[in-house]
Amino acid sequence: MGNGFVQKDHGNIVMFESPSFNKTGLVRHGFSARIGGAGKKPYDALNLAFHVGDDPETVIHNRQAACRILEADLSHMVTAQQVHGSNIRVVGWEHAGAGSLSYDTALPETDGLVTNVPGLLLATFYADCVPLFVLDPIKKIIASIHAGWKGTVSGIGAEALRKMSDVFGSNPGDCLAWIGPSIGRCCYEVEEMVLDKLKQQYRWWGNVATPSPNGKVKLDLPSANRNILVEAGIKLDNVEMCHICTLCNQDMLFSYRGSQGVTGRMGAFIILRANPD
Ligand SMILES: [Zn+2]
Repeated sequence: MGNGFVQKDHGNIVMFESPSFNKTGLVRHGFSARIGGAGKKPYDALNLAFHVGDDPETVIHNRQAACRILEADLSHMVTAQQVHGSNIRVVGWEHAGAGSLSYDTALPETDGLVTNVPGLLLATFYADCVPLFVLDPIKKIIASIHAGWKGTVSGIGAEALRKMSDVFGSNPGDCLAWIGPSIGRCCYEVEEMVLDKLKQQYRWWGNVATPSPNGKVKLDLPSANRNILVEAGIKLDNVEMCHICTLCNQDMLFSYRGSQGVTGRMGAFIILRANPD
């Protein structure tokens, strides 16, 4: 499955990680697979999101298991009520625990989290949408970004980089990015309307869209997000892509489309280490 990721087995829980992020020694991070948790069908097993209809106690149990792997405290987790928008929030200790034990307390209308605070665990949740991590190893800033097609069309990856520059003085040319598992071009068929919106925004739209025989279009959302990050100043060589399709790998991963919309969510977790190597 390519080399833009490393698969780590922690007992029966599996996390996908970025080899280049690991090399920096600055963060602990991972994108969880669906296996190894306590959830029952259709949320089996490591569902990490409250809003999908799973038993909240099970979600908390699963989150605690993920936190143990990340050597993080659940009370230091920050989550958002993801709405397929392009709002990026800079978060600090005052946000620690937001949404960690209930959906109601998650940060409203937010799809990207940025911090410079070591020990704060940024957590976003997925089933087909594209998870993006950005790490500025010079200024020691991290971002976790949820990019579905709407977020992609509005350039949420570029928005996160802008926020990192404005607030912390990050230079995109210094930054590393990782694009985790999501629905791939193989499986992501969209309506003409989605393609039209992409065409209005990006001259390279033709590189990420393939016509289907049925008149619809297959879209490569991970590559679109890579293009957006590169246009915003990240070096192409500094963008790692996972190239794992959620819908093709439902034994390992949750897929919204693959389950007609009723399923669990995987977690994208990243935390700046307090005492890097
Ligand atoms: Zn696929």
